[in-house]
Amino acid sequence: MLIEKKLELTIILVLLAGFTLSSIGAYLLYRDNVSVNQVQAQREFSEFRNRIDNRAATFDRDLEINFEALRSLAILFSGDAKPDLNKFDELAQAIMLRHSHIQAFSWIPRIRHVDRATAEKQAQEIFPHFEILQRSLGKLTPAVERPEYFPVYFLSPYIGNEPALGFDLASNAVRLQALEKSRDSGELQATASITLIQETTDQKGFLVFLPLYRGSQATLELRRKNLIGFITCVYRIVDIFSHSAPSTADTLETVFRITEKNQANEVNIIYQSVNAKDFFEDDSFDVKEDITGVYFYEHELPSVLGQTWTLTAASPKTYLSDSTLDGPILFFGVGILFSIFVSMHIRRISNDSEALSAMNKKLDSISHTDGLTGIPNRRTFDEFINQELLRAVRNKTYMSVLMIDVDYFKPYNDHYGHARGDQVLKQIATALKTIINRPGDLLARYGGEEFVIVLPETKEAETIAHNCNRVVRNLEIPHEFSKAATVITVSIGFETFIPQRGTDLDMVIENADSALYCAKKNGRDRAEKFIPQV
Ligand code: GH3
Ligand code: MG
Ligand code: MG
Repeated sequence: MLIEKKLELTIILVLLAGFTLSSIGAYLLYRDNVSVNQVQAQREFSEFRNRIDNRAATFDRDLEINFEALRSLAILFSGDAKPDLNKFDELAQAIMLRHSHIQAFSWIPRIRHVDRATAEKQAQEIFPHFEILQRSLGKLTPAVERPEYFPVYFLSPYIGNEPALGFDLASNAVRLQALEKSRDSGELQATASITLIQETTDQKGFLVFLPLYRGSQATLELRRKNLIGFITCVYRIVDIFSHSAPSTADTLETVFRITEKNQANEVNIIYQSVNAKDFFEDDSFDVKEDITGVYFYEHELPSVLGQTWTLTAASPKTYLSDSTLDGPILFFGVGILFSIFVSMHIRRISNDSEALSAMNKKLDSISHTDGLTGIPNRRTFDEFINQELLRAVRNKTYMSVLMIDVDYFKPYNDHYGHARGDQVLKQIATALKTIINRPGDLLARYGGEEFVIVLPETKEAETIAHNCNRVVRNLEIPHEFSKAATVITVSIGFETFIPQRGTDLDMVIENADSALYCAKKNGRDRAEKFIPQV
């Protein structure tokens, strides 16, 4: 019972230890994974940021290159030269060959109202339907009277941009604003993003103005007075942006948005990748709330000729697929399984050892018991009497030993058979057992047809000896061939002594035997006491 309890406790401890260690191990592994993932995420994010920074820088450089192209056209208007359309077209085409993302060049002369009719007539020599136009209610109509006009006069290429011809840029607020800024500053100026007159999709574009003057442009006054017009260049943002990056810079997953902040601080989308809507909220520039695992980065572009643009990029995190939990869960599972296995093993070993000790007990009892009669055997007797001798020496107490031998047993066997003889030995053992009633006494089969009784701390053994004779006789087992009686009888030699140091087993047996010899000699079926010779 106690062992069973101890076993239960051991198993509980093993399971508890297994659980604790597995948990600690799994937690450490998890923490390790998390920090590895954090480092990896940081690295990935900084790579992503670098990529976007580079992307913005390339875009900006490309814009600059494109703006520079505009200055090349100004050469036509230097001095007093008045370029004609052919020359303009020729040079514009040449420049566009090298700058394939320029949508169109145009010459926007400053035409005072008094010169309007003449200017229109001159242009009609080449474009018969030329008129200075403005857009109202989505339609192009003749421009209303103003002190001066800024119409698209030369246009290269003409094909594809026809709708813009004659359009008075001063009739449109966004364009006018840029025009005036450019005129006053003498610098290149971009418009805020606009839907181009010739645009057929929803892509945005912008115009860049280069102001040209005849005479001095030293002061604002002079610049306003001497302005002769603008060379403009038309760009579609999508063309510049999508061609400004080396093909490896944009991955499929990265989406971009370019936004522009106008003077009223409103933010407008002026460009976005095809699948940008999958990542961003429709109208704001926040990443969609239900999207997790996306990097998000904003890069403000260098001022684009007076306009503030921001490049925003979003890209899914790729490292997320490395699960932080798989390893720890596996570790925990294996740990628990292992401790269950160990506790099952402990239980099995304990069961085995229980079975073994039961077996040993059985073996031990077998090896100490006489197979025929079931009473202790000679070996038990030897061990027992040696122990008792020592104890009696120590305590200086008496002990008695009785040697009991069946009378005329050989003739019994000879006549009644060995099997009947065995039966008799069993009956005698059972009868003798009734005599022995103190727990410290021992009855054993000494060998053959001899029994021995040891009575520790017993000074008087004669009565017991006679009782032994009596109970055997009373079995009334017929023995026709005994010369002592008509039934089975026993002879007994007994001794009572205080063992001394040096009293050994052989001596005890010898003395009992000699008393037994006397009993045999004196007629059997009796008990004789050993009398030591003085
Ligand atoms: P005594 O009265 O002088 O003791 O005569 P005895 O015949 O008993 O003596 P002996 O020593 O000549 O014979 C002992 C016999 O006991 C021999 C054997 O046949 C018998 N015997 C010994 N052990 C066993 C046993 O285990 N079973 C049976 N059936 N007989 C046994
Ligand atoms: Mg004998
Ligand atoms: Mg005998």
